[in-house]
Amino acid sequence: MYRLIIILVLLIILFFMVRKAVREFLGWGKPDPMLPGRDVMVQDPVCKLYVTAGSAVVEKIGGQTYYFCSDECAIKFKSNLSG
Ligand SMILES: [Zn+2]
Repeated sequence: MYRLIIILVLLIILFFMVRKAVREFLGWGKPDPMLPGRDVMVQDPVCKLYVTAGSAVVEKIGGQTYYFCSDECAIKFKSNLSG
């Protein structure tokens, strides 16, 4: 009887794991909550310009994601951090 319960629980876990894997494979999973959608407006911290996340220059610095209008702003921002 206990063996049946254990097998059942394992099957349920397996089902959820497979479902999650299939969803991720097909791209049905929820988008990363840390990243805004491509059409979301994000502000460049250097020149204060608003750009869409899809066209922005994305830099991950110290676990934080920053969006810049151009490479120049990204470089400026990084040199400000280190300097
Ligand atoms: Zn900029």
